Amino acid sequence: MNIYISADLEGIAGVVARDQLGGTSENYRRARKLMTDEVNAAALGAIDAGADEVVVNDSHASMTNILIEDLHEEVRLISGQPKALSMMAGICSAYDMAFLIGYHARQGERGTLSHTYSSTTIGQFKFNGQVVGELGLSALIAGYFGVPIGLVSGDDAVCSEGKELLGDSVKLAAVKKNLAHRAAESLGPLQAGRLIREQARQAVSAKESAKPLILKSPATLEITFLNRGMAEEASLMPGAEIVSGSTVKFTHPDTREVIAGLEVMVTMAMSIPSDI
Ligand SMILES: [Zn+2]
Repeated sequence: MNIYISADLEGIAGVVARDQLGGTSENYRRARKLMTDEVNAAALGAIDAGADEVVVNDSHASMTNILIEDLHEEVRLISGQPKALSMMAGICSAYDMAFLIGYHARQGERGTLSHTYSSTTIGQFKFNGQVVGELGLSALIAGYFGVPIGLVSGDDAVCSEGKELLGDSVKLAAVKKNLAHRAAESLGPLQAGRLIREQARQAVSAKESAKPLILKSPATLEITFLNRGMAEEASLMPGAEIVSGSTVKFTHPDTREVIAGLEVMVTMAMSIPSDI
């Protein structure tokens, strides 16, 4: 049994502030260790339940956050960027289940460090009319390959988002309670690890009840950018068009192409500054 983990940083217990998310600060160094430990806890839970292979994709910013020297010896690491499918790079039909660890709520919603992809570029993503954040996007990519999401960890807000989107079968590990956009009440690392490990074990044990999230074809993606210039830049992609204000639409019968289109449009739009 093969388990895929996509690991972000904003939803890790104890992570609430910008200086924990990158750069050269002592707080970032500590956050990387906390992230690695939560990934290990998820891997251990999967292994407890009989997983043979666990692969983790480092999904935050530079995608070089996880400390490989501290990673569980059975886990393989995908890191670096850019890479196709980004936060879900390497996912394929060979996996039985995926976990989303350290995730956060989508842009504009309640949740510690909530945003979608780039807080200086993206207002929202909509697939077939439904607003999705990073959790939803990762779940749709996994679903394209027939892989269900078994576990979501992060704050209580992203856990609610996961339950709403994925239903009652998804296991949740709320390792912190959102208090404000840059504040939370977190479990200590040992308790967070125990919770994640147990929920991961239960997720894999109950894998028959987990269902992949499937996007109906033809899939329509609408991206609302933070300004018109970004939308104009993204609309240069063949097949993309501005449909209103700063919203760009792209439709394709193959879901994989729509997701590739998202990555291209976001990358293009990121070259445009968020101020005038
Ligand atoms: Zn992140």
